[in-house]
Order: sequence, then C-alpha cells, then structure tokens
Amino acid sequence: MLEITKQSIEKATAKARIAKPLVKVIEFRRYSVTNRETGATYEVRFTKVGNHKFGECSCPATKICYHISSCLPINAVLASQMIQTA
Ligand SMILES: [Zn+2]
Repeated sequence: MLEITKQSIEKATAKARIAKPLVKVIEFRRYSVTNRETGATYEVRFTKVGNHKFGECSCPATKICYHISSCLPINAVLASQMIQTA
C-alpha cells in the first residue's frame, strides 16, 4: 500500500493524462485499468485510514503509478455519490 498525497501522485497524474488508460469500476475502491496500447490490465485498490488515502496496484511499479492516479477522479465521484445517498 502506498500513501496518496499531492506530491506522490504528481508525476503519475501527468503520465495518466498522456497515457489515458481505460478504467473500469469493479466495485467502489476497486478498479481495472487497461493500457490502450499494450492491452495490459492491472487491478487498483484504494483504502482510507483516517485522513490518509492509500492505493495499491498489481503492476510492478514500486511508487504510485499512473494506473492509481487514473482511478482517482472516478473514485472521488463515487465517494461523493455515496456520501449523498447515505
Ligand atoms: Zn500500476
């Protein structure tokens, strides 16, 4: 699990804007991310502990990768909808 902070996702977010991978929702906080060029698919999971957000990806990266950053906007939308309907 890697902590998601503005600094830790900065580079990954820039890469995600270029790569534009295909993100599918498996369930809230669980996503499937596919590289449109290579077809490689990885699974991303998020966890929240207090005010700290953590992300995990099945790819070989040891830092926050663009798979994780690609899922963040969708995760934020789903999270806000869950708060509204709760
Ligand atoms: Zn990844």
